[in-house]
Order: sequence, then C-alpha cells, then structure tokens
Amino acid sequence: MDKNLRKAVIAGNWKMNKNPKETVELIQAIAPLVKEADCDVIACTPYIDLTAALEAAKGTNIKIGAENCHWEKSGAYTGEISADMLAAIGIEYVIIGHSERRTYFGETDETVQKRVRAALDAGLTVILCVGEYLEQREQGITDELVRLQTKIALGGVSADELKRIIIAYEPVWAIGTGKTATAEQANEVCAVIRQVVGELYGADNANALTIQYGGSMNAANADELLAKPDVDGGLIGGASLKAEDFAAIVKAASK
Ligand code: PEP
Repeated sequence: MDKNLRKAVIAGNWKMNKNPKETVELIQAIAPLVKEADCDVIACTPYIDLTAALEAAKGTNIKIGAENCHWEKSGAYTGEISADMLAAIGIEYVIIGHSERRTYFGETDETVQKRVRAALDAGLTVILCVGEYLEQREQGITDELVRLQTKIALGGVSADELKRIIIAYEPVWAIGTGKTATAEQANEVCAVIRQVVGELYGADNANALTIQYGGSMNAANADELLAKPDVDGGLIGGASLKAEDFAAIVKAASK
C-alpha cells in the first residue's frame, strides 16, 4: 500500500494548557482554518476541557481526544480517569505512553500496554507514543528501543484492533525543545516501526498503519517531514496551541 492510501492524521497535544473557556476559543479559531482538510484533525485536551471541546467541535471536522487514561474500568484510583469514562462522554481518541507520562509519572512499557488494552476495550482509537532519549540515540540503540516499546505496547492487540492504533514516533530530545529530528531521521525510525509491525501483523496491516512524527513539528518544517514516505502525520505540542500554525501543519498534511 502506498503512503497516499493511508489517512494522514494531525493531532494536537495540548498538554496542561487551556481552561474550558480558552478551549472553546481555540477550537473556534482552528475550525474554519481546517474545514477543507484532507486529513484527520484531532485535538487532545486536558480532561477538564473535553466536554467543552466536544461541544465546540460539533459540526466541524475536528475530533477530540484525551491525553491519557487509566487501565482499570473503575475503582479506588484517586485522581484517575478510565477509558470507559472517556468513551461515555463521546471521546474517540486517547494518547497513551507520551514521554512526559513516562518521564514524570512513572509510566512504563507494561503500564502503557495495560492502558492500550483498556482504551481498545472501551472502543477508543489509541495514539501510541514511542521514542528514544538523546543518550539512547547517541548509544545507537534507537531502533532496538523503539522496536521493544512498540512490541510491548501492542502485546495482546489483534490485527483487527490494530486498525484503531496510530503510532507516534516522538524522539524525546525533540519534544518541546525546538530541536526537530531531520526528515531523514524521522522517516528512518517510522520505517523501523512499520517493519516491526509488519513482523507482528504482516505487511498489509503494517502498510495500512498511520505512523506520525512528533517533536517540534511546526508550520516551517511540516512540509518536509510530512513528505517522507513513512511519515503519515504529526503529533503536535506547542504549535497546536496556535490556530494558524496548527492549520498550516494540517494544510501540509493535506497535500
Ligand atoms: C508532543 O507533546 O507530543 C510534542 C511533539 O510536543 P512539541 O510539538 O511541542 O515538541
């Protein structure tokens, strides 16, 4: 399958930014700028903003996602939100395994696997993040590491469920730092991910998988990154908070 047959997906990761009022304003600013998009457009917001975001996105082509979910359905997990709760309010997407969760909140490959399972069981589509730290790149273990992260996260995921998985390759050294991976580096690791998925699920399923790049993607570098054969979209942090910049990336993905 050709890259052109895969659906490009541009997703914003708002992180811990915007309150509900600001969320409505930002969605309303983005909506007219992306209405002609020839790619999927997603905004992943803080939990507290999800209801406002869903309401503001009604009648637009913007889909709403969460930034995490817990693996249990319910119970004594103070401060957590389950995948079922997200699905119950109409959320379609959830980011899992973001490097900020792994770095600051003790997320491991094993908990990522459990969250992926819960999200799929709840009917959500997962944006699964993998990627290496700078020291790991310098040690030359990027490919092995990303292969392992991908394999563990997909443990127990069926070929049918893989249709509800998007993988985001996010080199940790490029996230929020202004340092972007070169288009070649991004493509190389996205191709490694596609290869390991091919080993697990066969070439057809791997070729159908959307693989994003994330890490300081912006209006200026999106064209070059998104033109690469294995880069099918972007997970966007900082630039997703500026309507014009986010829309420019969506436009680049729509070519
Ligand atoms: C992210 O948070 O996933 C991300 C890629 O952030 P930024 O675009 O700011 O580097």
